[in-house]
Amino acid sequence: MKFGTKAIHAGVKPDPVSGAIMTPIYQTSTYVQDAPGKHKGYEYARTQNPTRDALQESLAALENGKYGVCFSSGLAAMDAIIKMLKSGDEVIATNDLYGGSYRLLTKIFGQFGVKSHFIDMTDPEEIHKHVNKNTKLIMVETPTNPMLSIVDIKAVVKIAAKYKVKVVVDNTFASPYLQNPLDLGADIVWHSCTKYLGGHSDVVMGAVITKSKVLADKLFFIQNAAGAVPGPQDCFLMLRGIKTLHLRVQRSCDNAKKVAEFLLAHKKVSKVYYPGFKDNPGHKVAKKQMSGFGGMVSFDLKINKFSAAKKVLSGTKLFALAESLGGVESLIGHPASMTHASIPKADRLKVGLTDSLIRLSIGVEDISDLIADLDKALSKL
Ligand SMILES: *Cc1c(COP(=O)(O)O)cnc(C)c1O
Repeated sequence: MKFGTKAIHAGVKPDPVSGAIMTPIYQTSTYVQDAPGKHKGYEYARTQNPTRDALQESLAALENGKYGVCFSSGLAAMDAIIKMLKSGDEVIATNDLYGGSYRLLTKIFGQFGVKSHFIDMTDPEEIHKHVNKNTKLIMVETPTNPMLSIVDIKAVVKIAAKYKVKVVVDNTFASPYLQNPLDLGADIVWHSCTKYLGGHSDVVMGAVITKSKVLADKLFFIQNAAGAVPGPQDCFLMLRGIKTLHLRVQRSCDNAKKVAEFLLAHKKVSKVYYPGFKDNPGHKVAKKQMSGFGGMVSFDLKINKFSAAKKVLSGTKLFALAESLGGVESLIGHPASMTHASIPKADRLKVGLTDSLIRLSIGVEDISDLIADLDKALSKL
């Protein structure tokens, strides 16, 4: 089955009771048993729920995996992955990981004796320097936020195999429509479904997908034992969002390309970060491992000041000033004061994350309106 067909049909069967074509919202906490020990496969809703089952099957299919395991947020999904480790184990992660992922590794799992190393994985050879006998996971995020750097997943997998270390990829920014890390050899892929998968900025959710029965058993055990499960209504909304994933992400990609080209030609703009440009350092790898360059664009201003960025950020009407990404509506954000405010300024500047850097999540609106909106905001400088 091709991607668009899977997005609509995978995991979803007509309801056995009524024939309802859409999976019902099984809003129940428990299930009646026919006799002690005799039930229909459902005992208690933290453990199993039919709406969640349909979604988990759908997500597994989209990532070309076998098992999908859903959680109440993206970070709860990552939390479950790290909970497979024990005290003394070590993780190697990309250094510009999503802020919440960094916080989870350092502030929570650090306390339980899981040590993390953060390295620049745009050069996968760096991994050799940090691997030791305790290394259990390599955590990749690509494209990264907000600089949209690209990590070569296949190259990381090759190095990890040498040391028998598992590779985990946060595929949130690409979405399964553009990139399938399991096909590139990764062991686990996870998502903040809050973003492109849901696509309508109305659900917070996470998912982990794998081909391995051993890993899936552990993840399902943690899902039930730790209990960070999504509710049935949210699972329904996620299933509904997924049906248009291919259409939405394709349109976002098309729009993002035009926005990036517009910004590159604008006299008030100093730099545009977009992996679709031939001279972008990640372009070759992106072209190899993604089927499109994504819906995110970051750019910097010639006037290198927060005050200049503020004018643009408050000057747009369609682009809403907000955190998050991947919805049908376009968003504008200021990483230095919003998503990346907790990172020391010197560290931010090292990667190009200046006070005037602006990040765009390009939605699926009409491109002429998006460009007119940005043009008007930039004219305020
Ligand atoms: C938003 C996000 C997360 C966290 O997901 P939540 O659903 O907010 O918990 C993790 N990784 C990336 C890349 C994100 O954008």
